[in-house]
Amino acid sequence: MIYDFIVLGAGASGLFFAANRPINDSPAARRFSSRLSGGRTLLLEKQNRSGRKLLLSGGGKCNVTNLRVGPENYLCTNPRFCAPALAAYGAERMLAFLRSHAIALEEREHGQVFCRGGAEQVRDLLLRLALDRGAELRLGQNLQAVRSLEQGWCWESKAGSEFGPDMGNKSDNSATAGEVATEEIESDMPGQEALEAGAAQEGGPARFEVLSNGRRFLTTNLLLASGGKAWPRSGASSFGYSLALAAGHALVAPRPALTPLKMPADWPLHGLQGLSLEVETSLVRVQDMAQGKPENCSQNGARDRKPGRAQMKTPSFRLPLLFTHTGLSGPACLQMSSYFDFGSGAAELLQIDFLPGENFESLLDAQENSRLSLMGLVRRVLPERLAEALLNAAGLGESLPRKVAELGRAVRVRAAKAIHEHRVRPVAPDFSQAESTAGGVDTSFVDARTMQSKLTPGLYFSGEVLDVCGQLGGYNLQWAWSSGWLAARAAFCPQISDTPHR
Ligand SMILES: Cc1cc2nc3c(=O)[nH]c(=O)nc-3n(C[C@H](O)[C@H](O)[C@H](O)COP(=O)(O)OP(=O)(O)OC[C@H]3O[C@@H](n4cnc5c(N)ncnc54)[C@H](O)[C@@H]3O)c2cc1C
Repeated sequence: MIYDFIVLGAGASGLFFAANRPINDSPAARRFSSRLSGGRTLLLEKQNRSGRKLLLSGGGKCNVTNLRVGPENYLCTNPRFCAPALAAYGAERMLAFLRSHAIALEEREHGQVFCRGGAEQVRDLLLRLALDRGAELRLGQNLQAVRSLEQGWCWESKAGSEFGPDMGNKSDNSATAGEVATEEIESDMPGQEALEAGAAQEGGPARFEVLSNGRRFLTTNLLLASGGKAWPRSGASSFGYSLALAAGHALVAPRPALTPLKMPADWPLHGLQGLSLEVETSLVRVQDMAQGKPENCSQNGARDRKPGRAQMKTPSFRLPLLFTHTGLSGPACLQMSSYFDFGSGAAELLQIDFLPGENFESLLDAQENSRLSLMGLVRRVLPERLAEALLNAAGLGESLPRKVAELGRAVRVRAAKAIHEHRVRPVAPDFSQAESTAGGVDTSFVDARTMQSKLTPGLYFSGEVLDVCGQLGGYNLQWAWSSGWLAARAAFCPQISDTPHR
């Protein structure tokens, strides 16, 4: 037996792909079981539960999409890569799909849309649709090898690594009814001889061989939907990258995105944990120190980076910031974190404007005839502990009790700079608290209209494994939906422009 598709990873995009496989309603197909209609899809999932990251998303409420989604919301070395997928399957279509399945939605600020009933509803819906359309799901899979029968390349797990033998069928007793049912399917799966006999009967070209949990599977197509490296406790790994490399694809060095940032020990704003306020964050490259870095090992400006260029600024975000025990978090920090490239050798600083939309120097100048002190004024516009820490760090501690009217221009300029241009170099983060991965499989060799590899026919990609990273606010899941859907359309009905949901 040869599968039409083996999907590696049953997370958001892998499930969405399988849920969108069209049902073949032709009379001939109806003579067969539903599992055989429209081609057979097998999902192989490492974890004992599908969609674990999806279940965590949006604090359990799943920020499914964003009404304002567009290519500009994504970091990708090729900025137009995600445009065809987003145009084909954008936020409106996703919302229509969810509504057609009675999923109640809630719109929040900045165009974010959440699932009222929780992330589990979305995961369960996708799982049910995938199974209804005949997909098989095998959980607790320990992938051992993936081989291209046409091209000869082969990915093999390293013994004792994350794909080592001890990662197998550990049960956490939390599989849903659907998953248990599909696990039961395993018992009536054909053995090796039947597999080979089936292959001969069906005659479809077996282009890939997958070895998992000691069993061999043949398939015409492969979808690599194994996600990125972010949030490793949900099962994230670098498996997808090593498989892509084995197939000859290049990587844009993966790095943590949408992550809180730890600050160095000498940061003057330590001790303000719990404080939250709206700020504007931006990234400043003080001096580019990148020497001889390969172009495909970085993103966000890597191509036009010139040594010695000073003060280059990237996008800024006016959003809430939260002080933590070790540094910063909150949307203003998470958004900006994705744009840092700590491995690039560039000296990148986080810049914070604590009084966005105001001009503190003008506020000072407007106090010419008043008896207000510097501290008195700053306390009116900023939390006192923060104001004191900022001005002390700028060496203005002695000026705090002085009347604003008595302050010279140099002091006023320094005070305004301290408040509007606070700069710090964060400690390089790891993936442990990152909600997404920036970088990934280089999109140069992936067809943006089909998600198919330009190097290996029949190899498809979807979701976070690719060098596409969404901003905070539902963009990453939208990319998982859009890319998974586009791959399904290209794979199952390349001749039509649309796939109906049922
Ligand atoms: C805490 C948290 C909250 C988030 N909230 C949101 C949100 O509200 N909105 C939003 O847009 N985005 C959110 N994200 C990001 C979003 O969840 C991901 O971008 C999205 O799930 C990526 O989909 P994917 O299918 O590419 O990867 P994943 O959903 O990560 O799925 C990949 C699957 O592949 C499996 N896998 C990995 N290696 C192997 C292997 N060797 N063999 C077999 N299977 C394998 C994994 O176990 C996993 O099930 C959040 C992320 C985190 C960590």
